[in-house]
Amino acid sequence: MEMPAPNQAILGLKDRLVARLQTVLPADAVIHDQAETRAYECDALTAYKCPPLCAVLPSSTQEVSDVLRICHEMGVPVVPRGAGTSLAGGALPTADSVILGVARMTEVLETNYDDRFVRVQTGRTNLSVTGAVEADGFFYAPDPSSQLACAIAGNIAMNSGGAHCLKYGVTTNNLLGVTMVMMDGTVVELGGAHMDAGGLDLLGLICGSEGQLGVVTEATLRILPKPEGARPVLMGYDSNEVAGQVVSDIIKAGVLPVAIEFMDRPCIRATEAFAKAGYPDCEALLIVEVEGSDAEIDEQLGLITQIARRHNPVELRESTSAEESARIWLGRKSAFGAMGQINDYMCLDGTIPVSQLPFVLRRIGEMSKEYGLDVGNVFHAGDGNMHPLILFDANKPGDLEKCEAFGADILRLCVEVGGCLTGEHGVGIEKRDLMVDQFAPDDLDIQMAVKDVFDPQWLLNPAKVFPLDASAKRRAA
Ligand SMILES: Cc1cc2nc3c(=O)[nH]c(=O)nc-3n(C[C@H](O)[C@H](O)[C@H](O)COP(=O)(O)OP(=O)(O)OC[C@H]3O[C@@H](n4cnc5c(N)ncnc54)[C@H](O)[C@@H]3O)c2cc1C
Repeated sequence: MEMPAPNQAILGLKDRLVARLQTVLPADAVIHDQAETRAYECDALTAYKCPPLCAVLPSSTQEVSDVLRICHEMGVPVVPRGAGTSLAGGALPTADSVILGVARMTEVLETNYDDRFVRVQTGRTNLSVTGAVEADGFFYAPDPSSQLACAIAGNIAMNSGGAHCLKYGVTTNNLLGVTMVMMDGTVVELGGAHMDAGGLDLLGLICGSEGQLGVVTEATLRILPKPEGARPVLMGYDSNEVAGQVVSDIIKAGVLPVAIEFMDRPCIRATEAFAKAGYPDCEALLIVEVEGSDAEIDEQLGLITQIARRHNPVELRESTSAEESARIWLGRKSAFGAMGQINDYMCLDGTIPVSQLPFVLRRIGEMSKEYGLDVGNVFHAGDGNMHPLILFDANKPGDLEKCEAFGADILRLCVEVGGCLTGEHGVGIEKRDLMVDQFAPDDLDIQMAVKDVFDPQWLLNPAKVFPLDASAKRRAA
C-alpha cells in the first residue's frame, strides 16, 4: 500500500534541507537520490511503503544532535530507524520526513564485568552485544527472534522481548541508562550504570516510547553471567486448548522455566517441511526450557514433565544432548521463515493473561473459519505473548483488508480478556487506530500530553502510536 507523495512545497524544501545536512555530515551520510531513498521506504511490515524525503546516517551523538537541530529549525519531521525490522510499521517514513538511521553507530563504548554492564552505541545489533562479552562468560538476556539483525535502538523503542524473557524480563528490565537527543538537539542522559536512578523514572518512560520522545544514541545494558547449562523438553498434544492448559498449569505451579514456546499444527507442518526438526505430527507443540546446574535442571524438569503427563501428551521428549537441544529449537526458530514459504502473512502481537490461552486459541480458530483465512500460532506462551500469523495473498484484491480486519478482531479479543494490544512489537502504524479499544479518551490525552512535553511540535516519528485523528487535533491545538 503506497502512502501519499510529498507536495511541491515539501519538494522545494528538500534542496535546502539536504544542503544544510551536508554541512554537518559527510557526503555519503546524506542519502537524497530518489532511487536510493527507496531502501528506507518500509520496515518489516512491508504492506506499507513510502520513500522519505531523504535519509541520514550519523556516526555519533553529536551528529545526531546536529541533524535534529537542523530539522527542528526547519520544521521537518524525523523518523528514527534502527535495522528496520519492526513488524508494526514503527519505522515507516512519511513523504515529508527524514529517516535518521543509526546503522553506523555500532561501537562498544565500555565493558564493565565488576558492575555487569556494557555501554554501546544503539546501532549495534542485539546479538552482537552478547557477541562482545560471551568469551568472558556473560550474555545480554533479551533475545528477539530477529536478534541477528535488529538494533538495540529499535529494541529500546519497542521494549522488545524474546523467547527467554519469561525468566529475564524484556528490554526495560535489562536497560540501565541511555543517552538521548531531544528533537531540538539537546542531549540528555537518563539512568546510569546501575538499576533504579533517582527522581522520576524517565528511563522507564523512554523504553517502549517508539521513537516519539527522542533519539536514543547510546545505551548502558545489564549483562548476566551465562548459566551453567540449559535443557529443553518437547511436548506434543492433540489439542491447542490442552496445550494452553499445560502452560497455565506450569505457571500456576510456581516453576519458572526460562522459556515456554507454543506452536500449533499449521506452524508445525510448515516448519517440518522447511527445517525437518523431527517434530511430532500433532495439534500443538510446546518447548519448555529450564536453566541451571544439572541438579536444578533435573528438579525443575521433573515437576514440569509431571504436569505435562497429567494432560496425556502424544509426545514428551526431554533433550539428552546439545545436538538434540539444538534440533528442538531449530523448528521454532525457523517457524516464521517456514510460514513465509507458504504465503504472505501478517504477524500479530498481543498479550493475554496466561489462563485465557485455551479460550483465546479456540476463538482464533473459530474466527479463522469466519474470515476464510488460515492462521498459524507460534508464540511466547509463558508470558501470554501471542503471535498469530494470518496467511493471505497480497496479490488477491481485498485479501489484505480482510486480513487486517481479522487481525484487529484478534487484538480486540486480547484486550477483552484482560490483555493488551502489544506484547513486544509495539503499536506503530499497525495498531494506532486500535488504541481506542484499549484506552479511554482521557488516557490517550494524558499519553499525548507526555509527547507534547518532549516534542511540542510533534515532529518525531509522525503518524505512529496515536490514532490519526486524535494526534492531528493535538498537533493543531
Ligand atoms: C522475523 C522477525 C522476528 C521478530 N521477532 C521478534 C521477537 O521475538 N521479539 C520482539 O520483540 N520483536 C521481534 N521482531 C520485531 C522487531 O525485530 C523488533 O521490534 C526490534 O526491536 C526492532 O528493532 P530495529 O532495530 O529493527 O528497529 P526499527 O524497525 O528500525 O525501528 C523500530 C522502532 O524504533 C524506533 N527507533 C529506531 N531507532 C531509534 C532510536 N535510535 N531512538 C528512538 N527510537 C528509535 C523507530 O522509529 C521505530 O518506531 C521480529 C521481527 C522480525 C522481522
